[in-house]
Amino acid sequence: AAEFKRPARTRRIAVANQKGGVGKTSTAVNVAAAFAQTGMNVLVVDMDPQGNASTALGAKHNSGDPSVYDVIEGRATIADVMQTCPDYETLHVVPASIDLSGADLELADMPDRNNLMRHALDDFLADSDVHYDYVLVDCPPSLGLLVINAMCAVSEMLIPIQAEYYALEGLGQLINTIGLVQSNFNPELLVSTMLVTMFDRRTLLSREVYEEVKSHYPSIVLDTTIPRTVKISEAPSFAQTVVTYDPRGMGAIAYREAALEINNRSAVVLETIASRRNEE
Ligand code: ADP
Ligand code: MG
Repeated sequence: AAEFKRPARTRRIAVANQKGGVGKTSTAVNVAAAFAQTGMNVLVVDMDPQGNASTALGAKHNSGDPSVYDVIEGRATIADVMQTCPDYETLHVVPASIDLSGADLELADMPDRNNLMRHALDDFLADSDVHYDYVLVDCPPSLGLLVINAMCAVSEMLIPIQAEYYALEGLGQLINTIGLVQSNFNPELLVSTMLVTMFDRRTLLSREVYEEVKSHYPSIVLDTTIPRTVKISEAPSFAQTVVTYDPRGMGAIAYREAALEINNRSAVVLETIASRRNEE
């Protein structure tokens, strides 16, 4: 079995890309499951009103159920609303439901509106009996206030990039937004990881996209790519991650490999974040 060493401090990672359908949610839940499978303590925060991460992790998230919406609006704590994933004792989920769909507008008038999630997460991690190794925030496909809240609450960004035409289109805008958050609200924020998803190694296009991303962001993009496989898209309909649904399949293998690569970078990443913090 692969060697997973616990990171020295909690790694807080937002999975973001304003494009829809690039593999954000699949990446968040499968990387989280791969970590949890090794016994690490993992919290997934679903910040997408679609609630796809909640579905994949088997969390109840009907309209009216306690959710991340209550946390952001200050009516509940993370501990109040979080659920344990039925498949993994050490994987906890803050669910999202359609109730969150108005939040971007509602937040606009709130004082300190960018830092609502950061405060909730800081308080939770400080008070929790459990030491969390990873917090993964699954973002909606936008660059609105929910995503800004996610960017302010974490220290790392994981950007999934779909291997397709125009893969890099919109990436500049995302990087710009991250830069703005960095200079205005969260100086330690680091784009630590890019992951090429829906990779088809039989096509020249997939390989070209990978090489292009790699040439722009050589130290950020993972060596591991996630293959296009129907098992990854089937798993959520069984309220499962592909790591549980098809553990020996190439989707699960790739996501475990990606998780290992992310984990192997812990020391370097945490050091970079700490040095940014000290520069403040
Ligand atoms: P996002 O969260 O960025 O919108 P998703 O993870 O929900 O993206 O993926 C979009 C769609 O593509 C979903 O139906 C998902 O099941 C499917 N999908 C994601 N990754 C893969 C993959 N590697 N192979 C096949 N289908 C995938
Ligand atoms: Mg999604």
